[in-house]
Amino acid sequence: MWRRQNDEEGACLLDHKPRVASFFHHLGEEAPLVPSGTVFFSGCNFRCVYCQNWDISQHPEAGVETTPQALAAIQIRLREEGARNINWVGGEPTPNIPHILESLRMLAARGVNVPQLWNSNMYLTPEGLSLILHVMDIWLPDFKYGNDKCALKYSVAPRYWEVVTRNFSTICRRREDIIVRHLVLPGHVECCTKPVLKWLAENCNYALVNIMQQYRPDYLVVKLDKYKEIRRRVTEEEMQEAYRYATELGLAWEEVS
Ligand code: SF4
Repeated sequence: MWRRQNDEEGACLLDHKPRVASFFHHLGEEAPLVPSGTVFFSGCNFRCVYCQNWDISQHPEAGVETTPQALAAIQIRLREEGARNINWVGGEPTPNIPHILESLRMLAARGVNVPQLWNSNMYLTPEGLSLILHVMDIWLPDFKYGNDKCALKYSVAPRYWEVVTRNFSTICRRREDIIVRHLVLPGHVECCTKPVLKWLAENCNYALVNIMQQYRPDYLVVKLDKYKEIRRRVTEEEMQEAYRYATELGLAWEEVS
Protein backbone atom coordinates (compact mmCIF):
# COMPACT_ATOMS: atom_id res chain seq x y z
CA MET A 1 0.00 0.00 0.00
CA TRP A 2 2.65 2.52 1.03
CA ARG A 3 4.78 1.70 -2.01
CA ARG A 4 2.22 3.28 -4.31
CA GLN A 5 3.48 6.81 -3.74
CA ASN A 6 3.47 7.73 -7.41
CA ASP A 7 1.81 6.73 -10.65
CA GLU A 8 3.27 3.24 -10.56
CA GLU A 9 0.60 0.55 -10.61
CA GLY A 10 0.37 -1.83 -7.65
CA ALA A 11 -0.82 -5.43 -7.51
CA CYS A 12 -4.30 -4.01 -7.03
CA LEU A 13 -4.01 -2.44 -10.51
CA LEU A 14 -4.28 1.04 -9.01
CA ASP A 15 -1.79 3.86 -8.76
CA HIS A 16 -1.88 6.06 -5.63
CA LYS A 17 -5.27 7.61 -6.47
CA PRO A 18 -8.50 5.97 -5.28
CA ARG A 19 -11.23 5.24 -7.81
CA VAL A 20 -14.90 4.79 -7.02
CA ALA A 21 -17.08 2.78 -9.40
CA SER A 22 -20.40 3.53 -7.65
CA PHE A 23 -22.05 4.24 -4.32
CA PHE A 24 -25.62 3.64 -3.24
CA HIS A 25 -27.93 2.29 -0.55
CA HIS A 26 -27.45 -1.48 -0.65
CA LEU A 27 -30.56 -3.39 0.40
CA GLY A 28 -29.16 -6.87 -0.30
CA GLU A 29 -26.71 -7.11 2.61
CA GLU A 30 -27.43 -9.03 5.83
CA ALA A 31 -30.69 -7.78 7.39
CA PRO A 32 -29.26 -5.92 10.42
CA LEU A 33 -27.01 -3.88 8.14
CA VAL A 34 -29.47 -2.42 5.63
CA PRO A 35 -29.88 0.11 4.22
CA SER A 36 -26.11 0.06 3.92
CA GLY A 37 -24.36 3.04 2.38
CA THR A 38 -22.06 1.10 0.10
CA VAL A 39 -19.01 2.52 -1.65
CA PHE A 40 -17.62 0.35 -4.46
CA PHE A 41 -13.95 0.99 -5.18
CA SER A 42 -12.47 -0.27 -8.41
CA GLY A 43 -9.32 -2.39 -8.39
CA CYS A 44 -8.56 -5.45 -6.27
CA ASN A 45 -5.52 -7.26 -4.90
CA PHE A 46 -7.06 -10.61 -5.93
CA ARG A 47 -7.63 -12.12 -9.37
CA CYS A 48 -10.63 -14.34 -8.64
CA VAL A 49 -11.38 -16.24 -11.83
CA TYR A 50 -15.10 -16.30 -10.93
CA CYS A 51 -15.37 -12.66 -9.84
CA GLN A 52 -18.86 -11.32 -10.45
CA ASN A 53 -17.58 -7.75 -10.17
CA TRP A 54 -14.69 -8.31 -12.59
CA ASP A 55 -15.75 -5.29 -14.65
CA ILE A 56 -14.66 -3.05 -11.76
CA SER A 57 -12.28 -5.28 -9.75
CA GLN A 58 -10.02 -6.02 -12.72
CA HIS A 59 -10.62 -2.74 -14.52
CA PRO A 60 -9.81 0.20 -12.25
CA GLU A 61 -10.33 2.56 -15.14
CA ALA A 62 -14.04 1.79 -14.73
CA GLY A 63 -14.00 3.93 -11.58
CA VAL A 64 -13.90 7.68 -11.27
CA GLU A 65 -10.76 9.13 -9.71
CA THR A 66 -11.68 10.56 -6.34
CA THR A 67 -10.29 12.31 -3.25
CA PRO A 68 -10.68 12.05 0.52
CA GLN A 69 -12.90 15.16 0.33
CA ALA A 70 -15.17 13.42 -2.15
CA LEU A 71 -15.24 10.27 0.00
CA ALA A 72 -16.28 12.39 2.99
CA ALA A 73 -19.04 14.04 0.92
CA ILE A 74 -20.29 10.63 -0.28
CA GLN A 75 -20.54 9.42 3.33
CA ILE A 76 -22.42 12.50 4.45
CA ARG A 77 -24.87 12.18 1.57
CA LEU A 78 -25.49 8.46 2.14
CA ARG A 79 -26.01 9.07 5.87
CA GLU A 80 -28.39 11.95 5.30
CA GLU A 81 -30.37 9.74 2.93
CA GLY A 82 -30.80 7.13 5.68
CA ALA A 83 -27.81 4.76 5.50
CA ARG A 84 -27.25 2.87 8.77
CA ASN A 85 -23.56 2.52 8.04
CA ILE A 86 -20.85 3.12 5.47
CA ASN A 87 -19.87 -0.11 3.75
CA TRP A 88 -16.41 -0.03 2.17
CA VAL A 89 -16.16 -2.63 -0.58
CA GLY A 90 -15.03 -3.11 -4.18
CA GLY A 91 -13.16 -4.57 -5.81
CA GLU A 92 -11.31 -4.26 -2.56
CA PRO A 93 -11.14 -1.37 -0.08
CA THR A 94 -7.67 -2.25 1.27
CA PRO A 95 -5.62 -0.30 -1.32
CA ASN A 96 -7.62 2.79 -0.36
CA ILE A 97 -7.02 2.76 3.40
CA PRO A 98 -5.06 6.07 3.56
CA HIS A 99 -7.80 7.89 1.65
CA ILE A 100 -10.58 6.37 3.74
CA LEU A 101 -8.79 7.39 6.96
CA GLU A 102 -8.29 10.91 5.67
CA SER A 103 -11.99 11.14 4.80
CA LEU A 104 -12.88 10.00 8.32
CA ARG A 105 -10.70 12.72 9.82
CA MET A 106 -12.69 15.20 7.74
CA LEU A 107 -15.98 13.75 8.95
CA ALA A 108 -14.82 13.94 12.57
CA ALA A 109 -13.85 17.58 12.10
CA ARG A 110 -17.43 18.23 11.00
CA GLY A 111 -18.89 16.30 13.93
CA VAL A 112 -20.28 13.51 11.71
CA ASN A 113 -20.09 9.99 13.09
CA VAL A 114 -21.25 7.09 10.89
CA PRO A 115 -20.72 3.40 11.76
CA GLN A 116 -18.02 1.95 9.53
CA LEU A 117 -18.18 -1.48 7.94
CA TRP A 118 -15.17 -3.29 6.40
CA ASN A 119 -16.29 -5.53 3.53
CA SER A 120 -13.03 -7.11 2.38
CA ASN A 121 -11.13 -10.22 1.36
CA MET A 122 -8.92 -9.59 4.44
CA TYR A 123 -5.70 -10.01 2.48
CA LEU A 124 -3.85 -7.13 4.05
CA THR A 125 -0.67 -6.59 6.03
CA PRO A 126 -0.58 -6.32 9.85
CA GLU A 127 0.27 -2.62 9.36
CA GLY A 128 -2.77 -2.12 7.14
CA LEU A 129 -5.02 -3.88 9.63
CA SER A 130 -3.64 -1.88 12.56
CA LEU A 131 -4.59 1.34 10.77
CA ILE A 132 -8.27 0.42 10.58
CA LEU A 133 -8.60 -1.72 13.70
CA HIS A 134 -9.77 1.11 15.92
CA VAL A 135 -11.89 2.73 13.24
CA MET A 136 -14.14 -0.05 11.94
CA ASP A 137 -17.33 -0.85 13.85
CA ILE A 138 -18.41 -3.99 12.03
CA TRP A 139 -16.34 -6.50 10.07
CA LEU A 140 -17.89 -8.18 7.05
CA PRO A 141 -14.99 -10.20 5.65
CA ASP A 142 -14.83 -13.03 3.14
CA PHE A 143 -13.14 -16.23 4.18
CA LYS A 144 -12.81 -17.88 0.81
CA TYR A 145 -10.39 -20.80 0.87
CA GLY A 146 -9.30 -23.55 3.21
CA ASN A 147 -5.83 -23.95 1.73
CA ASP A 148 -3.17 -22.12 -0.27
CA LYS A 149 -3.41 -24.27 -3.38
CA CYS A 150 -7.00 -23.28 -4.13
CA ALA A 151 -6.30 -19.63 -3.25
CA LEU A 152 -3.40 -19.55 -5.66
CA LYS A 153 -5.30 -21.27 -8.44
CA TYR A 154 -8.50 -19.25 -8.26
CA SER A 155 -7.40 -15.87 -6.84
CA VAL A 156 -3.61 -15.72 -7.37
CA ALA A 157 -3.22 -15.10 -3.64
CA PRO A 158 0.04 -16.56 -2.27
CA ARG A 159 0.22 -17.49 1.44
CA TYR A 160 -3.54 -17.00 1.67
CA TRP A 161 -4.15 -19.15 4.73
CA GLU A 162 -1.35 -17.60 6.79
CA VAL A 163 -2.29 -14.01 5.91
CA VAL A 164 -6.03 -14.32 6.33
CA THR A 165 -6.06 -16.41 9.51
CA ARG A 166 -3.56 -13.97 11.06
CA ASN A 167 -5.95 -11.10 10.36
CA PHE A 168 -9.03 -13.00 11.53
CA SER A 169 -7.16 -13.94 14.72
CA THR A 170 -6.45 -10.28 15.47
CA ILE A 171 -10.09 -9.32 15.04
CA CYS A 172 -11.54 -12.32 16.84
CA ARG A 173 -9.21 -12.01 19.84
CA ARG A 174 -10.68 -8.54 20.36
CA ARG A 175 -14.19 -9.97 19.98
CA GLU A 176 -15.08 -7.36 17.42
CA ASP A 177 -18.52 -7.50 15.80
CA ILE A 178 -18.08 -9.73 12.79
CA ILE A 179 -20.13 -11.50 10.14
CA VAL A 180 -17.91 -13.88 8.16
CA ARG A 181 -18.96 -14.70 4.62
CA HIS A 182 -18.00 -17.98 3.05
CA LEU A 183 -18.97 -18.61 -0.56
CA VAL A 184 -19.25 -22.34 -1.16
CA LEU A 185 -17.47 -23.29 -4.39
CA PRO A 186 -18.57 -26.35 -6.40
CA GLY A 187 -16.43 -29.35 -5.52
CA HIS A 188 -14.68 -27.47 -2.69
CA VAL A 189 -16.64 -28.47 0.40
CA GLU A 190 -13.90 -30.79 1.69
CA CYS A 191 -10.83 -28.72 0.78
CA CYS A 192 -12.19 -25.22 1.47
CA THR A 193 -15.57 -25.03 3.23
CA LYS A 194 -14.78 -27.50 5.99
CA PRO A 195 -11.33 -26.13 6.93
CA VAL A 196 -12.75 -22.58 6.96
CA LEU A 197 -15.65 -23.57 9.22
CA LYS A 198 -13.38 -25.63 11.47
CA TRP A 199 -10.94 -22.74 11.89
CA LEU A 200 -13.79 -20.40 12.77
CA ALA A 201 -15.19 -22.86 15.31
CA GLU A 202 -11.79 -23.13 16.97
CA ASN A 203 -10.75 -19.49 16.81
CA CYS A 204 -13.80 -17.27 16.34
CA ASN A 205 -16.76 -19.26 17.57
CA TYR A 206 -18.84 -16.20 18.52
CA ALA A 207 -18.92 -14.95 14.87
CA LEU A 208 -22.02 -15.02 12.74
CA VAL A 209 -21.23 -17.05 9.63
CA ASN A 210 -22.98 -16.52 6.33
CA ILE A 211 -22.58 -19.71 4.30
CA MET A 212 -23.40 -18.50 0.83
CA GLN A 213 -24.95 -20.54 -1.96
CA GLN A 214 -24.94 -17.91 -4.69
CA TYR A 215 -21.85 -18.97 -6.60
CA ARG A 216 -22.38 -18.99 -10.34
CA PRO A 217 -19.78 -19.42 -13.06
CA ASP A 218 -18.63 -16.06 -14.36
CA TYR A 219 -15.64 -14.23 -15.86
CA LEU A 220 -12.64 -16.51 -16.63
CA VAL A 221 -14.48 -19.64 -15.50
CA VAL A 222 -16.77 -19.34 -18.50
CA LYS A 223 -14.04 -18.09 -20.82
CA LEU A 224 -11.19 -20.54 -20.12
CA ASP A 225 -11.34 -24.31 -20.10
CA LYS A 226 -8.72 -24.61 -17.36
CA TYR A 227 -11.33 -23.74 -14.73
CA LYS A 228 -14.11 -25.94 -16.02
CA GLU A 229 -14.26 -27.96 -12.79
CA ILE A 230 -16.00 -24.96 -11.21
CA ARG A 231 -18.19 -24.21 -14.23
CA ARG A 232 -21.37 -25.25 -12.47
CA ARG A 233 -23.60 -24.20 -9.57
CA VAL A 234 -23.18 -25.69 -6.11
CA THR A 235 -25.52 -28.65 -5.59
CA GLU A 236 -28.12 -28.87 -2.86
CA GLU A 237 -26.21 -31.86 -1.42
CA GLU A 238 -23.04 -29.77 -1.15
CA MET A 239 -24.91 -26.98 0.65
CA GLN A 240 -26.59 -29.43 3.01
CA GLU A 241 -23.18 -30.92 3.88
CA ALA A 242 -21.79 -27.44 4.57
CA TYR A 243 -24.77 -26.61 6.82
CA ARG A 244 -24.56 -29.98 8.56
CA TYR A 245 -20.87 -29.47 9.33
CA ALA A 246 -21.43 -25.92 10.59
CA THR A 247 -24.15 -27.19 12.90
CA GLU A 248 -21.93 -30.01 14.13
CA LEU A 249 -19.25 -27.43 14.96
CA GLY A 250 -21.74 -25.24 16.84
CA LEU A 251 -21.35 -22.22 14.56
CA ALA A 252 -24.03 -19.51 14.40
CA TRP A 253 -24.91 -19.68 10.73
CA GLU A 254 -28.69 -20.06 10.54
CA GLU A 255 -29.33 -16.45 11.54
CA VAL A 256 -27.63 -15.10 8.44
CA SER A 257 -27.55 -17.86 5.82
S1 SF4 B 1 -11.69 -10.51 -3.87
FE1 SF4 B 1 -13.82 -10.12 -4.49
S2 SF4 B 1 -13.74 -8.30 -5.82
FE2 SF4 B 1 -11.63 -9.08 -5.65
S3 SF4 B 1 -11.38 -10.38 -7.47
FE3 SF4 B 1 -12.04 -11.70 -5.74
S4 SF4 B 1 -14.30 -11.83 -5.90
FE4 SF4 B 1 -13.60 -10.07 -7.17
